[in-house]
Amino acid sequence: MRPIFDAALVNRVFGDPGVLIDLRFERRAILFDVGDVTSLPTRKLLRVEDLFVSHTHMDHFAGFDHLLRVCLGRDTGVRAYGPEGFIAQLEHKLAAYTWNLVENYETDFVITASELGPDGHVERAQFRSRTAFRREELPGTEAPEGLLLDSASFRVRTVPLEHHGIPSLAFAFEEGIHINVWKNRLQELGLPTGPWLTELKQKVRAGAPDDTPIKVHWRTREGSHDERMPLGELKSKVLEFVPGQKVCYVTDVADTSRNRETLARFLRGTDLLFIEAVFLDEDREHAERKAHLTARAAGEIARAASVRAAIPFHFSPRYLGREADVRHEFERAWHA
Ligand SMILES: [Zn+2]
Ligand SMILES: [Zn+2]
Repeated sequence: MRPIFDAALVNRVFGDPGVLIDLRFERRAILFDVGDVTSLPTRKLLRVEDLFVSHTHMDHFAGFDHLLRVCLGRDTGVRAYGPEGFIAQLEHKLAAYTWNLVENYETDFVITASELGPDGHVERAQFRSRTAFRREELPGTEAPEGLLLDSASFRVRTVPLEHHGIPSLAFAFEEGIHINVWKNRLQELGLPTGPWLTELKQKVRAGAPDDTPIKVHWRTREGSHDERMPLGELKSKVLEFVPGQKVCYVTDVADTSRNRETLARFLRGTDLLFIEAVFLDEDREHAERKAHLTARAAGEIARAASVRAAIPFHFSPRYLGREADVRHEFERAWHA
């Protein structure tokens, strides 16, 4: 299947954590964490419309200024999501600069911020360049089953995990089902391609009943043709359904049985998992003190959830020169 997105680490394993999911055909990207993002080319940063921050330790949030600086003046704003206290922290970041010139910008750059409270309620606020990024409250909302973003082609869910007495959010990017058209079967039925196929797919996605009539209209040299066919028949004859991919991002979590249980549920059906592997098992006491996963624990979590592919990251700089050891430990636990 032709993948419609790229998911990749922002930095190498010893650099700041972060993953960019680039939805190339939509000219849009989402970013998990915003530490040092200077390695990303401007054209990619400009596509970021949704930013998800696991927690606000500096290595996960310090690059927000860089992102804002690059994107300011762009006509689409940015939506940012984070854990409890996130909106106030964003507000303070924005308040640290002088904004007397942005009023002259042609476009109003709007940051919409959402924070997930401990009760599952989502508080929201916005910051607009036109008003020098003063905080404006927005009505709150809920995140049923952790659902933060529901767009036409994908969803993003979250779950809070324990990290040194604070929550760290894990994220799941879930692509919608791909609906493809069997061109050869269309030909066999003597049907043309055209805008009607888009309409058919939209109706199928919306769950329209099988007896919904679909009008196919086309012109040839012989004149114009009209045909009405029931949606159900077209669905079974010319459409192919391919399940979307699930990509998860897990970082800065303590190795507790509760986190492991939560992750086993949250990661079910994951095609690609990005997971922190900060320490080696030989330093597990240190990992415990810092509330991070060892490579072995990360591998065991990946195995428990039967993920199809996994990429470890966020290696401690103490293992510079021993990258292969960390990877090895992770792989061994994952495939055990
Ligand atoms: Zn970190
Ligand atoms: Zn942290």
